[in-house]
Amino acid sequence: MVGENEQEKQYRLCPSCANFSHVLERHFFCILCGTKLIDSCAKCGTPITHPHGKFCHHCGSSYMADQVGTNR
Ligand SMILES: [Zn+2]
Ligand SMILES: [Zn+2]
Repeated sequence: MVGENEQEKQYRLCPSCANFSHVLERHFFCILCGTKLIDSCAKCGTPITHPHGKFCHHCGSSYMADQVGTNR
């Protein structure tokens, strides 16, 4: 059962600059850097429920893209 209450606590996160947006705002790309936002862990699929989280609370993998040194 996935109701609207679930979505109220879900966020999208920019894997590039860590900007975030509430799921209900329906932003799909980062307004700061244009990167496609993620709404769940790439590894285990757990939804992102904390706007400032940078690691999955379920499996501990990082939400951020691999730091390759390309900040631009
Ligand atoms: Zn960004
Ligand atoms: Zn995970």
